[in-house]
Order: sequence, then structure tokens, then C-alpha cells
Amino acid sequence: MFWLDRPERPEPLAPLVENIDADLVIVGGGFTGLWTALLANDVDPDKDIVLIERTRIGDGGTGRNGGFVAASLTHGFGNGLSRWPEELSTLLEFGQRNLEDIETFVKLNGIDCDFRRAGEIDVAVADHQVSELRESVQQMKEFGLDVEFLDQDAMQGRVASPTYLAGLWDQHSVALVDPARLAWGLLETARRRGIRIYENTEITDFDDEHDRVVLHAGSQRVTAAKAVIATNAFPSLISSVRHRVVPVYDYVLMTEPLTDSQWRAIGWADREGVSDSGNQFHYYRPTEDGRILWGGYDAVYHSGNGFGPQFENDDDAYQRLATHFLQTFPQLDGIRFTHAWGGAIDTCSRFTAFWGTEAAGKVAYVAGFTGLGVGSSRFAAQVTLDLLDDHDSTRTRLEMVRSKPLPFPPEPLRSLGIKWTTTSLQHADAKGGRRNLWLRTLDRLGLGFDS
Ligand SMILES: Cc1cc2nc3c(=O)[nH]c(=O)nc-3n(C[C@H](O)[C@H](O)[C@H](O)COP(=O)(O)OP(=O)(O)OC[C@H]3O[C@@H](n4cnc5c(N)ncnc54)[C@H](O)[C@@H]3O)c2cc1C
Repeated sequence: MFWLDRPERPEPLAPLVENIDADLVIVGGGFTGLWTALLANDVDPDKDIVLIERTRIGDGGTGRNGGFVAASLTHGFGNGLSRWPEELSTLLEFGQRNLEDIETFVKLNGIDCDFRRAGEIDVAVADHQVSELRESVQQMKEFGLDVEFLDQDAMQGRVASPTYLAGLWDQHSVALVDPARLAWGLLETARRRGIRIYENTEITDFDDEHDRVVLHAGSQRVTAAKAVIATNAFPSLISSVRHRVVPVYDYVLMTEPLTDSQWRAIGWADREGVSDSGNQFHYYRPTEDGRILWGGYDAVYHSGNGFGPQFENDDDAYQRLATHFLQTFPQLDGIRFTHAWGGAIDTCSRFTAFWGTEAAGKVAYVAGFTGLGVGSSRFAAQVTLDLLDDHDSTRTRLEMVRSKPLPFPPEPLRSLGIKWTTTSLQHADAKGGRRNLWLRTLDRLGLGFDS
């Protein structure tokens, strides 16, 4: 995997081999778990914090993603507007502050992770998407967002592709990062602060024992006053999460570094993040060493919440991605893809994180980022700590935080529903964005399937 398999990857940390006690134990060493540990330490540097990771830090979505750090906490402006119009202004403010806090943290702690406030362009690649982008720009401006509509010439002036018809340029709400180096920087900062981290240790279940929670890892026990479950798309220790989250596999290609003349052929002087605006969309971005990461489009669900390394490669998805890449950038014909990988996204039916507590409030969890958790995981971690402390705050009063997504139906209806929704979304993309009766019904119910 391009991001993770590099010489700067830290040495593995020792697994847990004894019974231990802690004030707070965090399960899962991705962005959510790491931020939870660091934010809890900010509040109380004397708190004894332990983080337990099943394999290696960053092995989940955290080390596999596109590195788009979005301010959006709602999986995009449109989803936020349709679900929480009343509190969207507050959510936008929280999101923007969250992005700025991540940037400040990276700088203050000297984390070398190519964090750049590069911005993002949503491109229209079909006629109906042009008017949709124009309308989005209008709506976003009404909420005070500084975004710009790019007509075809302006768009082509930024990045040249025969498929581009227009763009929505959002300069302020998205950064790009090298995700693994960010995770490793968070890991190093956490260790410097005395947070104990164990790798290659899987928590299999937990018990509520009066004023303590006991987590089991094989024959070892971790006893703590409080615990946070930050395990994203992995099979959850919380049974209600398994009804609300489906693991969906998303795939990525990485090109070899482009030559100067290849870069000149496509422009892209400002090296922004780009994504296209169909229901099935690609996201892509330049890397520090001059490659293009190109991912998305397919979002593959395997029956029975299928999960595991056997789904992390998909030759058909890679082939489709390569074909779409060359349709977008025919100037780069002959370029080689040097890396390809996949990873699971924790899709829920409202596309944004949700929270809850168990064990009489001693265990808090968050899941459901649906493919946009690089930035929002830090906000999610703050909320999780608020909930553990029973802390009434502007964050915990948000409807987005208090409510949960509707669960997915059991199998075989779950597989059938997802299949039918995916097919309907493909048809909508091919038919000028027109949504069939099934999609319109789901829209009315506030349900959906996305990545
Ligand atoms: C291909 C791909 C591209 C993406 N692109 C973007 C993007 O550009 N921008 C964006 O915002 N989001 C993106 N995402 C989503 C983003 O990566 C995630 O939302 C984010 O990393 C979630 O972090 P996390 O810590 O919650 O989960 P994870 O990084 O998945 O971490 C969960 C951790 O928990 C550990 N774990 C699980 N169960 C146990 C257990 N029982 N005991 C101990 N440890 C356990 C796992 O090993 C894992 O390390 C993408 C995801 C994928 C797969």
C-alpha cells in the first residue's frame, strides 16, 4: 500500500501481555482513536490513557484514504442542508474550526505530513451536473461559504480534461494530507505525552463491572473507568452499531510520478483535490512526489457485512478506475499505475458519524463516517469524550449528535436493497440525474447509500 509501506513507518509496538488498569482505554488506532487519546490528554495530562490496536496504527481507513481533510462534518454541504438545515450554520462553524485546529496541531507538533490547504474542486462531467453545481454555489454562498462557480473555460484553465464542463471551487474548506504520516505523527505525539499504546492486540468483548469496564484481549484484561470504541467499519463490539453500519469497499490507484511535460499537459498548477459530482464519483489529488491518487466510483458491499483482507483487492474495480482515469486525462496515455489497494468504509444510512454510550455511560462509541472521516474524526473524538463525561455542550446538544441513522434491514433484504439502490444510482447518473421511484422514496425517508 503506497501510504503505509514506507521506510518511515514506525517500528511495531509491543502487544499487551499482562492485565492492566487505566483511567481511559481506547479501542482502535485510527484517526478517531488517536485524536480521542490526544484530546483526553489535553484536558487532563495526568489521566492514564491506553490505546489498543488490533494490528498496526493506521492499518484501517486511516492509512488507506485519499487524504482529503474536509471541514464538512456532514458528508458534504448538500447532505447537511437536507438533514439539519436549522443547525447547519453551527455545524459549518464547528467543521471549519476543527480543520483549523488540525492544521494548528500539525504545525505546533512539527508533524511532517504534507498538510496543505489546497482546496477542492467538484467538477461537472454531465450536463445536468452543471446546473446542480451552480445551484450548490448559490446555496453555499447563502450560508457564508466562499465558493466560486467555474465555467468550462475557467475550469479547463485550472485542470485540463475533455470531460470537464464546469466546476465548484472551494478554496477554504478542504486540505490535503499524507494520511499515514499524519497518523504516525499523532502516534509519536501521543507516545511523547505518556499515552500507552499496544499494537497487535484485539479486544474481543467487554463487561460492565460496577464502576469499571473490563475489556478482554485473549487471556489479558484491561480494566478502566471509561472506554471508547473507535473501530470504524470493523465488526463492532457494540451490537446496535452492526445494524447501522455496513462495510463498503472503496478502491484506489496511484500513478507513477508524472514528468514535467505530463504535468504541463494537464495544468493543475495549484494541485487542488478534485472530485466529480455523479452519484458514483471519483476523487483524485496530486501527491508530494508528483503522482496522482485516483479513487472511488465503485462502492462494493459484500453480503452479511462481509469484511476482511480478501475484499481489499478487486481487479474489476481497478480496471474500471484505470479506464476512467484515461477518459479523464487522455493526455496521460501510457502512464503506469504503481500501486492499487482497497479499504472498508463505514457506511450508514445518513452518511455522517453517529454516537452512543453503553455500560451505563462508561463506554462511548462513534461510527458511520461513510468515507469522510479524515477531518471529522477529530470532532467525533471530542463529542465522544463529552458523552463519556456526561458533559452538556453545544456539541452534545446538536440534533446530529443526539440522533442516529435508521438501521439497515437484515439479510437478505440488506443485500437486495443495497444492490437495487446502487443500480438505481447508476441509472440516475446515466439519465441526466433523474431519480427513480425507489430513490425518491428513500430520499423521503432520509435513507441512502453512499461512500
Ligand atoms: C479507500 C478509502 C479512501 C478514503 N478517502 C477519504 C478521504 O479522502 N477523506 C476522508 O475524509 N475520508 C476518507 N476515507 C474514510 C477515512 O479513511 C475514515 O473515515 C477514517 O480514517 C476513519 O478513521 P477511524 O479511526 O474511525 O477508523 P480506522 O482508521 O478504520 O481505524 C479503526 C481501527 O480500529 C482497529 N480495530 C478494529 N477492531 C478492533 C478491536 N476489536 N480491537 C482493537 N482494535 C480494533 C482497526 O485495526 C483499525 O486500525 C477513505 C476510506 C477509504 C477506505
